[in-house]
Amino acid sequence: MGKWEGFFSKETSSLKSSEIRDLLKLTEGKSVISFAGGLPDPSTFPVEDIKKIADEILETKSASALQYTATAGISELRKQLVSFTGLRGVTGINENNVFVSVGSQEALFMLFNVLVDPGDNIVVEKPTYLTALNVLRTRKPQFHGVPVTERGPDLQILESELKKLHSEGKKVKLMYVIPTAQNPAGTTMYLDDRKYLMELASSYDFLVVEDDAYGFLVFDGDNPPPLKALDKEGRVIYLGTFSKILSPGLRLGWIVADEEIIREVELFKQNVDLHTPSFNQFIAAEAIRRGVIQSNLPKTKSLYKEKRDYMINAMDKFFPSSVKRTKPVGGMFIFTWLPEKFNTVQLLQEAMNRGVAYVPGSSFFYDYSGTNTMRINFSFPNKAEIERGIEILGNLIRSKL
Ligand code: PMP
Repeated sequence: MGKWEGFFSKETSSLKSSEIRDLLKLTEGKSVISFAGGLPDPSTFPVEDIKKIADEILETKSASALQYTATAGISELRKQLVSFTGLRGVTGINENNVFVSVGSQEALFMLFNVLVDPGDNIVVEKPTYLTALNVLRTRKPQFHGVPVTERGPDLQILESELKKLHSEGKKVKLMYVIPTAQNPAGTTMYLDDRKYLMELASSYDFLVVEDDAYGFLVFDGDNPPPLKALDKEGRVIYLGTFSKILSPGLRLGWIVADEEIIREVELFKQNVDLHTPSFNQFIAAEAIRRGVIQSNLPKTKSLYKEKRDYMINAMDKFFPSSVKRTKPVGGMFIFTWLPEKFNTVQLLQEAMNRGVAYVPGSSFFYDYSGTNTMRINFSFPNKAEIERGIEILGNLIRSKL
């Protein structure tokens, strides 16, 4: 027990640092090839454009850019986000439906705090984004998992779970879903499934938190409109982020939702951090207005597609055929299934000793199943690291078969 542990609140002491996070920390400052994070390739940052925009803002708008601002975000950015989200097919919204957050992570934190009480029935995909799960866990809900197939969450399983709960007099309050280029599975829901999910949400009256973190980063096949674009009732809460398309360091994300929900989040954020950094918001607004993000996207997408293909080729070369993997249509990750007997948490220490890190897949399952899975990032490592890292992992797996 640490010296001050007895002073920590019950809530934060339940946030015990995970074994995996502790292990991954050991990679800091070492020459380990990291497939663990979800970092963009830094060559995609439009440095010169940001420099120019930042200079101009400081010259012409410093009085407001360096000042406190409104909790929901600066008007310039909220307006730009109405049209920018429109590029994803979301229409019929105005500035009052848009809320700027410190990355979409803060949006998830605020939304789950505003919406979820202990014991509420919440649906998540199996697997799903681990930090959304971790925030949800602090709310102590009743989780219901829907397995992800190659076409997204299995809606038949969802429907039978909804029916079962209904027959027990219970109700699902919300579903957290990543319909496009899912993290970690890399799958995208078909348009028909999206429509069907919206029908289920309507019939069983639950909210949908739609995380569109990779919606602008689909590099293969169709990119159907987000659920929010199909939402006639205002029950979808859409989350976007600048992290993967401009810079994660700016810490900017946004929510598109019904005004009543936006107002509730606004009240909450007043007590969290007052508002999202004004200067960064001005930069993002200008980056959209000048088309910097839009014109940068094709280059980013083709780079990630190239890296994905490079990693897949390396996996096909070095991994035994008993390892199954996804072929993601977008985003930054490949998800793999090792033979059942493997435990990827235990394997991580050995992988790191050999110079490569990944995230064990069980972190992405609310019930910590998926013990034989791993998530592997391809956006950050360079090609030589991809080749070498996959060879090391492949050799390690083969040595344990
Ligand atoms: N949602 C998903 C699905 C993500 O992968 C991430 C980042 N890894 C986030 C949300 C949070 O990102 P940010 O706070 O940088 O917007």
